[in-house]
Amino acid sequence: MSTKRDYYEVLNVGRNATKEEIKNKYRKLALQFHPDRNKNAGAEEKFKEISEAYAVLSDDEKRKKYDKFGHVGSEEVFRGSESNFDEIFRDIGFGGIKDIFEQLFGGGFSPRNRSDPFGFGFNFGRGNRGEDTVIDLSLSLEEVISGKNETVEIPALEKCSVCNGSGCYPGTKRKKCSSCNGLGQTKRIFNENRFSTFVTVETCRSCKGVGEIIEKPCKNCGSNGKVAIRTKIQVEIPPGIDDGMTLQLSGRGISDGNEVPGDLFIRIHIKPHQIFERLENGDLLYLLKLKYTELVLGTELVLPTLYGSEKLKIPPGTQVDSIFRLRGKGIPVHGRRSKGDQIIKIKLEVPTKLSDRQKWLIKELNDTKNT
Ligand SMILES: [Zn+2]
Ligand SMILES: [Zn+2]
Repeated sequence: MSTKRDYYEVLNVGRNATKEEIKNKYRKLALQFHPDRNKNAGAEEKFKEISEAYAVLSDDEKRKKYDKFGHVGSEEVFRGSESNFDEIFRDIGFGGIKDIFEQLFGGGFSPRNRSDPFGFGFNFGRGNRGEDTVIDLSLSLEEVISGKNETVEIPALEKCSVCNGSGCYPGTKRKKCSSCNGLGQTKRIFNENRFSTFVTVETCRSCKGVGEIIEKPCKNCGSNGKVAIRTKIQVEIPPGIDDGMTLQLSGRGISDGNEVPGDLFIRIHIKPHQIFERLENGDLLYLLKLKYTELVLGTELVLPTLYGSEKLKIPPGTQVDSIFRLRGKGIPVHGRRSKGDQIIKIKLEVPTKLSDRQKWLIKELNDTKNT
């Protein structure tokens, strides 16, 4: 797993820093380490590091998640945070965020779509890249504590065996696109007035920029040159993962072998547990119903935990809603070494059916003083 530094430490702010403080700190550091200004070795790495920290801490939702679980899917951190950067970069007079990130992360930087991570409508990419794949995975709490080696089935592409990947009907070939003369682009010239013209270059619509067209498509793959298959892969689910988290596995998405594979995103769902409820910080809640007499006189019990049974002593005179803790019997906290506790909350079990003798005894008890 990652060995990244704590984001608060990276920006040198306290854990309770306000958004304004975080913004000011990042602005200062960005001025100092921006790759256009600072050509020292390590400056670029530093700029990446502070930018990643800022991407997370400037976004309420991501900050909350980070506080709770630590670092998650590192390349996901920028998604949705671009506007937070834009303002700062505009303020300090640097180019737009897209220039910077293109320069820094190039084709290697990838949220959902590596060729256009922020949806700016332009291409960061280098070469062909397979699609990203998103799958869902449900885990039990028992699987959460131990982590899991899971076999998942994902869609994949395979070279079409009929056309050997060409997409052409056997015995035929691709032809040069006549619309663009094989260039893949078409020029349009506008005469604005007598003195000025402007030219727009567009991707050729006939060949979609490829410069060639398939006259007779392969029937097996419909001119794609690839066919869809399903393939099984092993993924390692780290302990302590929580509901709603997404694991990103770089390069494990769809690939046909010819292109850079996309990423595999695994959305995690945690099944509700029969007796435990997951709380924050790895704690587990366990409601324990006891009889009035057990609360009054005290008792010793054997309780279930996710790690086997444990003894618990209930002292005499225990109140309803008292809390007992079994230290370290909770869930490992993602990104940290510690485990949470099992929290036992005492509830009173009130009997609804009583024998005559029991009724008489309770009345007797009620009539005595000091109850
Ligand atoms: Zn084919
Ligand atoms: Zn064309």
